Amino acid sequence: MDRCGVVIVGSGLAGMTAAYRLTKAGRRVTVLEAGPVLGGRTSSWVEGGMPVDSGLHKFLGIYRALPALLRDVGMDPHAILSWEDAVQIHVPDEPVHAYFRAAPVHKPVRTLLTALGNNRIVPPLAKLALTYMGAGGLRECAAHPLELDGQNVYDYARRSGVSEWVCRRLLAAVTQGVLFMPPEEFSAYAVFAPVLEGLKSGMTFRVGAFKGGMTDVMIRPIASAVEKLGGRVRTNARVTRLAVESGRVVGVEVGDEKIPADHVVLAVALKPAQELIRAALPDYSWFAPMLSLGTLSAVTVQMELDGPALPSDHTNFSTGALCCFAEQSRTTFTHARGRLSVILSRPGSSSTWSPGRSWSGRSRRRGASGCTWRAASRTTGWCDTRMISTPCGPGRRSCGRRRRRRCRGLAWRGTTRSSRGSPAWKARSCPASGRPRPSPDRVGACHPPV
Ligand SMILES: Cc1cc2nc3c(=O)[nH]c(=O)nc-3n(C[C@H](O)[C@H](O)[C@H](O)COP(=O)(O)OP(=O)(O)OC[C@H]3O[C@@H](n4cnc5c(N)ncnc54)[C@H](O)[C@@H]3O)c2cc1C
Repeated sequence: MDRCGVVIVGSGLAGMTAAYRLTKAGRRVTVLEAGPVLGGRTSSWVEGGMPVDSGLHKFLGIYRALPALLRDVGMDPHAILSWEDAVQIHVPDEPVHAYFRAAPVHKPVRTLLTALGNNRIVPPLAKLALTYMGAGGLRECAAHPLELDGQNVYDYARRSGVSEWVCRRLLAAVTQGVLFMPPEEFSAYAVFAPVLEGLKSGMTFRVGAFKGGMTDVMIRPIASAVEKLGGRVRTNARVTRLAVESGRVVGVEVGDEKIPADHVVLAVALKPAQELIRAALPDYSWFAPMLSLGTLSAVTVQMELDGPALPSDHTNFSTGALCCFAEQSRTTFTHARGRLSVILSRPGSSSTWSPGRSWSGRSRRRGASGCTWRAASRTTGWCDTRMISTPCGPGRRSCGRRRRRRCRGLAWRGTTRSSRGSPAWKARSCPASGRPRPSPDRVGACHPPV
């Protein structure tokens, strides 16, 4: 095989960005992607006839590098996005939920009104405490970012006078929803840094959803631009080894195939990067901190319903194992009459989830990052639905372990007939709302790829 200028391992956003920038700079680039689909954690594919994607992806208005890349490859970011600009926070055991507009520049009045409202969930005194915390956090973030990174946001909030109740209900929902972690494990820096960036770039916070599967609307056009510039993009090409000579990486191996290269860019998730580096460069102390980092697990579950689950498409954060969900039938998966996408975090990871209500199913860890949970759920008192979780990578066949479980549900709306499921299951109504529960016609599951 010819020597490559640069081999890029991984076709996620990092790999494709590197590929585009390097081919544009005149390098000979080959992208090697382990899976059959491009995009990694921003990919979409068809699973058993059902379009799915690798997560409940939101495009934030404060992003700069991604819109710039999209424009460079000839795409208009607004053409592939639908701006939702709203976030709802579901609080377990509360009849009301908090609904915030999150677009200070684009919808200033509504953003202000929702910030001033929602008093049952965020009472005025709590707002004052949160404002005080926010001002202090932004100041420290600008002045001492590393020190702020050494603190978790729960401690930071409590020291700033935010009540335990607000931490448990509101803050936990946000940290779980954004990075799938409880506030005790969430760096205070990680909360304030994006806000600071947003302020610097003119308060351009917004929340956008993709108008279609991310591989289709975003990653494939970038890959085409790379190919037009002479780069190569290969799928089903898992790098099994980094080739090292005299302590220097001189290429990669894809099974039996050896691909020499002047440079190798490892644009994979942490766990596969650790595995490749550990095997090839075990003695480099420089890598030690990176090799000791832990990874985080999450499972996303996607359901097609025969009616919308929510009145509009916007992100919903919640606490506990269920950390984030959205109706996506009006934006991303428009072929479906209803489409609920849910991200589940580590069962029992949040102290906000009381034992009686915990995600009490079995779960099993697997080695690689991302797809580490096989969750068989049993929870109490909510609507019935089916969920599956499969430990498979994007594009791979589901391992087909479908389970029908009682799933702690949401404020289901809409109703419908079931095309599958037992008669008893069909007949039951949601104990929480009293309404007939929507019946998933088809259920799919996916998760971040290995
Ligand atoms: C469930 C979920 C929801 C998310 N939601 C959002 C969101 O709403 N907004 C947001 O901005 N971000 C979100 N993120 C984060 C965002 O998706 C990631 O930060 C981003 O996609 C990571 O891109 P990447 O290129 O670094 O890695 P990846 O996308 O993981 O790409 C790495 C690629 O490398 C490949 N690979 C791995 N090992 C090998 C190997 N040995 N050989 C060849 N290829 C290999 C993988 O198959 C993969 O395609 C979410 C993440 C998850 C998991």
